[in-house]
Amino acid sequence: MLGKSKGTGLDGSFVQCAGCKKTLFKREFEDNLYVCPQCGHHHRLTWQQRVALTFDDGSFQELDSALRSGDPLEFPEYREKLEAAMAKTGMNDSVVAGVATIDGAHVSTAIADFSFMGGSMGSVAGEKITRTLERAAEDQKPAIIFCASGGARMQEGLLSLMQMAKTTAAVAKCREAGAPYIAVFTDPTMAGVLASYASIADVILAEPKALVGFAGARVSAQAQVTKVPDDFQKAEFGERSGMLDKIVERRALKQTLSSLVRVLGGGVR
Ligand SMILES: [Zn+2]
Repeated sequence: MLGKSKGTGLDGSFVQCAGCKKTLFKREFEDNLYVCPQCGHHHRLTWQQRVALTFDDGSFQELDSALRSGDPLEFPEYREKLEAAMAKTGMNDSVVAGVATIDGAHVSTAIADFSFMGGSMGSVAGEKITRTLERAAEDQKPAIIFCASGGARMQEGLLSLMQMAKTTAAVAKCREAGAPYIAVFTDPTMAGVLASYASIADVILAEPKALVGFAGARVSAQAQVTKVPDDFQKAEFGERSGMLDKIVERRALKQTLSSLVRVLGGGVR
């Protein structure tokens, strides 16, 4: 996330880049869509920022907002962590789902926000992703899902892992219905999310340098028996190896998504 504003008496006027650590004018940084003008680091976005940068003004309508996680395993401190995340972010879970238009075309969408428990996928996030895909299938309109997750939510155990199968089945429903599904990998797209609905989209885009992988960096380093490229587990490696279709800079993302929605069909009523 963003570095703290400098306490210089011009509070709030500056931010520190999480990539190159340089001090940036906040206004310039925001105008550049939260991408560092110096090093190009794409900072993580809140779901509200993502909506504002992607969809037509005022077109996003949130759905399924009342869904709340239970604590089925009575996992130690899970309730407290959930409540703290809710208080910090104003969200009820790590994914916000709804419908919106992009250059006038109707889409079903879900946006993961890393700031809520690392974007982890428990029962609620899995259900929202599933409903997003099912809405796309039923209405024959494109689904656009923004991924940002460390993976499955360990505090929900098997119920969390079940979301992998459930969301994967929902992607199949889209395919049967002929509704295109576009995934956007943002930093990070990892583990149980990558291994389920994320990596089986019809079209996969990624933001530059997004962390994309299955195991975490430390686990991967321990398991390496051969040397891997320096950008292993980055979007660039995924693009070179055919795992994803295209890396798109944030400033071009809306236009790219809009074109894809029109080319792939559906969505225009
Ligand atoms: Zn920078």
